[in-house]
Amino acid sequence: MSESKLAIKVDVDTWLGTRDGVPRIRHLLDVRGVPASFYLSLGPDRSGRAVWRIFHRRGFLAKMLRTRAPGAYGLRTLLYGTVLPAPLIGRGRELMVRRLMRAGHEAGLHAWDHVDWHDRLWRMNPAEVRAEVDRGVEAFSCLAGDPPSGFAAPAWRISAPAAQALKASGLTYMSATRGRGPYWPVIEGQAVGLLEIPTTLPTADEVLGREGLTPDNLDDFFLERILDPGLHVLTVHAEMEGRALAPAFARLLDGCLKHGVTFVRLIDLAGECLKNPSALPLSEVVALDVPGRAGRVSHQKT
Ligand SMILES: [Zn+2]
Repeated sequence: MSESKLAIKVDVDTWLGTRDGVPRIRHLLDVRGVPASFYLSLGPDRSGRAVWRIFHRRGFLAKMLRTRAPGAYGLRTLLYGTVLPAPLIGRGRELMVRRLMRAGHEAGLHAWDHVDWHDRLWRMNPAEVRAEVDRGVEAFSCLAGDPPSGFAAPAWRISAPAAQALKASGLTYMSATRGRGPYWPVIEGQAVGLLEIPTTLPTADEVLGREGLTPDNLDDFFLERILDPGLHVLTVHAEMEGRALAPAFARLLDGCLKHGVTFVRLIDLAGECLKNPSALPLSEVVALDVPGRAGRVSHQKT
């Protein structure tokens, strides 16, 4: 039996990822009896606006080409919010959310407006952040019947006002940074008092195309890291692992099962952590560059 624990976060960013990627990933998990945590974007799909980052953000074009994003996300997605209107992602998704929960998965909140959070969070004033969080929590509650317990930050970006708004909304935990393991975050000098469970592993789009990694051998790269004893938190995307990278994700799940890796949902990890809150470290959150990702992310201070 392996001494590894793996929590899988499924980030859902787009309308297409919600329609096609979520059921595909759920199927891959369900046939193997693996539980996971899904974080949903519910407001307008303005992914097309991200295309404009090509012109003013270093590294974005290289990443788009390396990960073949137009193929992964579909051309329509890349035009939403520009020449095509932005569809509301969460509209009519009650059944999808309830099916996820009935299958034993956790459903949490990813964003109201994913692109807005990604592009503007660090420039938003507290009232704007609060409105963004409130709209997301309200939309989630309408779909699921209850408010979310967990929140995964788009692009791993968090601010003190955002963490305060999330805490005020009654969230049990957030997963907003990259880091080593669960901790109490100190953001912009403030201890926010909301449990943070960071993503510990890189994402597929960050490592694809580097060091000879392709969709055919990506699962070996991740399995090797997951088999290091301890807790690992892996973020996958409905738009990637639920579409072009589904075969690699399936092989990774099989590899983990073969080696006896224990799967946990983030809400269960949070429950364990909160039984003994003083055992967790207090860590500062800093903005850092991550290899393969355009723009800085919030990171547990090393
Ligand atoms: Zn996302």
